[in-house]
Amino acid sequence: MQEREGHRRTIRPESWLVSAGRERRPGAPLNVPPVPASNFILGDRREYARDDATPTWEALEEIVGGLEGGDAVAFASGMAAIAAVFDQVLAGSVVALPDDCYQGVAGLAEAGQAKKRWTVTRIAVDDTDAWIRACEYADLIWLESPSNPLLVVADVEAICAAPRKPGAILAVDNTFATPLNQRPLELGADVSVQSATKFIGGHSDLLAGVATTKDPELRVALRKARELAGATPGTLEAFLAVRGARTMALRLERAQQTAGILAARLEGHPQVTKTRYPGLVSHPTHEVARRQLRGFGTIISFDVRGGVEAADAVCAHVGLIQHATSLGAAESTMERRAAIPGQEHLPPSMLRLSVGIEDPDDLWTDLDQALRRTAPESSVASAPQAHHG
Ligand SMILES: *Cc1c(COP(=O)(O)O)cnc(C)c1O
Repeated sequence: MQEREGHRRTIRPESWLVSAGRERRPGAPLNVPPVPASNFILGDRREYARDDATPTWEALEEIVGGLEGGDAVAFASGMAAIAAVFDQVLAGSVVALPDDCYQGVAGLAEAGQAKKRWTVTRIAVDDTDAWIRACEYADLIWLESPSNPLLVVADVEAICAAPRKPGAILAVDNTFATPLNQRPLELGADVSVQSATKFIGGHSDLLAGVATTKDPELRVALRKARELAGATPGTLEAFLAVRGARTMALRLERAQQTAGILAARLEGHPQVTKTRYPGLVSHPTHEVARRQLRGFGTIISFDVRGGVEAADAVCAHVGLIQHATSLGAAESTMERRAAIPGQEHLPPSMLRLSVGIEDPDDLWTDLDQALRRTAPESSVASAPQAHHG
């Protein structure tokens, strides 16, 4: 890493994504290749890959670090990065966690509480006053914004500006926003984490995670946690993540534009009772989103009229949209989140749609025909037929 210390982003994020993490030496491969090596010939800084990194995952760290505005530490998955942050929490601490957040993070926090390592306090994502109070007593303040899957936007800037208990860590799960839409370190967070499995990889073909911080001590601690847990990214995964990152800005821009179109149409659809998307004026945290995010993202959550059966039928009848979990990929994916064990607290008929880069009208046609099947007999045929005369 020392060699890259002077390497800081001076160009726009879109250009950085394409150009960072490459060797400049004449004759070097244009793309840093996967380096399948556990160990290296002694005498240089690299000895063993778990401790000293491979060139491939250092390229990923350079790219993400430049985007987030700090030093990045790459991990085997988003959860591995998150676990390394939780590993910093000392016994007897208080962890403040959003009431809506990635299920794996909630699981990790609850498991730690069950082992009496810390106590967890859950706070509503948009209850800024409660978060500000938590900054006074919590040792780990964990924000996720926009939240998964309810897409509530936290006032990250206001919470980061609040006085913090000495030694406390304020972390932001930046996966839904991506570093292109939000830079938590600039807003005052100590660490920003990404599931690179999602938008950075962007093709549903890898698991990887990244934690980025400006704090040199925290960076060393995260690297140590990675080393001791063996939570290192695979070289092929790092290679694929770097390749995905090259087109990330284009993919996000396209999918985000489409998400805005689909969210507006879903909001007006007779078979949809509620649409959650931070870009909608009707969204309860739309104003914070406008102020804080460069774009509103690619995820939409909407409730289907007719309950669980109708929602499952929509999932069964989409064709272009894949009935699959996860998000942030080239292809659109959709699932009913309350169907997942442990997620029964979510609205039962809510579908989470991750919008991909397909044609917006093709996506709408797919969604609309699946939604119409759930309508009562009388209204099924009439509306579309009338338009096509
Ligand atoms: C997917 C996801 C994670 C976990 O990342 P993995 O790469 O699957 O381990 C964490 N936070 C959010 C918001 C996610 O969407």
